[in-house]
Amino acid sequence: MDRQQEYVLRTIEERDIRFVRLWFTDVLGALKSVAVAPAELESAFSEGIGFDGSAIEGFTRVYEADMIVRPDASTFQTLAWRGDNQGTARMFCDILMPDGSPAASDSRHVLKRALDSAADAGFTFYTHPEIEFYLFKEPYVAGQPPVPLDQAGYFDHVARGDGHDFRRAAITMLEQMGISVEFSHHEGGPGQNEIDLRYADALSTADNIMTFRTVVREVALRHQAYASFMPKPLAGQPGSGMHTHVSLFEGDTNAFHEPGAPYQLSQTGRRFIAGLLVHAREISAVTNQWVNSYKRIWGGAEAPAHVCWGHNNRSALVRVPMYKPGKGQSSRVEIRSLDSACNPYLAFALLVAAGLKGIQEGYDLPPEAEDDVWALTDNERRAMGIAELPQSLSEAIAAMEESELVAETLGESVFDFFLRNKKQEWGDYRAQVTPFELDRYLERL
Ligand code: GLU
Ligand code: MG
Ligand code: MG
Repeated sequence: MDRQQEYVLRTIEERDIRFVRLWFTDVLGALKSVAVAPAELESAFSEGIGFDGSAIEGFTRVYEADMIVRPDASTFQTLAWRGDNQGTARMFCDILMPDGSPAASDSRHVLKRALDSAADAGFTFYTHPEIEFYLFKEPYVAGQPPVPLDQAGYFDHVARGDGHDFRRAAITMLEQMGISVEFSHHEGGPGQNEIDLRYADALSTADNIMTFRTVVREVALRHQAYASFMPKPLAGQPGSGMHTHVSLFEGDTNAFHEPGAPYQLSQTGRRFIAGLLVHAREISAVTNQWVNSYKRIWGGAEAPAHVCWGHNNRSALVRVPMYKPGKGQSSRVEIRSLDSACNPYLAFALLVAAGLKGIQEGYDLPPEAEDDVWALTDNERRAMGIAELPQSLSEAIAAMEESELVAETLGESVFDFFLRNKKQEWGDYRAQVTPFELDRYLERL
């Protein structure tokens, strides 16, 4: 046993922890959990715990159903919402095949592999997500529109403050779980909130996002509300994005920073952005993985619809935030396509892979889009060489299917499962006759 594992066992004993939840994430980004008694942990660390992989989305084919979860001791944390007395703790897990090799279908492993490639090129990849979500009044009544918790808007300070109380409780709980929060505020839609996590290496951030979603749901329930990370829950209101600020470090130095360059952005930074742009359409099915995701990014409400970059341009897919003098270490770029319902492990793996490709192949960065790209006509955009993001899950699937970068980064088994699953989702959607069609056509046609 290593020192971290010993620390976990000691802490469990000292704090009288009765249950340890082993957490892992399926290919579509759903959190899975199995609780074990502390007595089982020693063998969980050495051999792992077996489970039936065929029961979980995207894990195995039936004939290779036996799989193993092995907890990563460095992620040990007590669960604040379960209370101190006879508490509960959790660890994220790696998923292994019966022979002990990493399971190809483990999204955490997919990200680790992508981060290893970045490390081989001398880089550490940092991310900082701005997570948007809605709070709706309990309960949701099927067939009725969801009812937002308040009617406030961007940065509003809401009187009576349901939102404040919620955010304070959520942030306190996140901090208790070792997750630092940088900003939080009411977002543009009624009941919509944003909480921004402090930047960290991409694996920790992805783990933190999984914890975040759970904490936010738990806290919402205590405020007679439920939280939804659905990308576009209300027609006519902004969707919920997960803008992600990214940077590469070489040792202690921010590789995106170059004093005196335009926007203080180094060639590495420029090529990284170019990589994101070149591969934006192919990675879309992962950064925006649901039928509903495409109702957010079709244009407007500060969500990107076109493949371009800009300085402080909120209509662009990639934005280079304003440089603050003396803050070279915080040089970064913001990718605005991701939504709050993506699988963060797979999405981050593809972001770093696309950026690295740009660096390694020496992609040139096209000129920045200075205008509000939503306001341009199709012809104007075409003349400027600005492509559209996929307009539907179906278009995104077609772009992904052709992508060597995505196939390589996800690995064959995740790539195949993902495409199969998403085609099925698109097929199910297409088979629906919607209220829109009935209202519009039934009596007229
Ligand atoms: N809600 C917007 C989106 O879907 C983003 C608003 C903002 O700029 O923070 O991306
Ligand atoms: Mg926002
Ligand atoms: Mg933002």
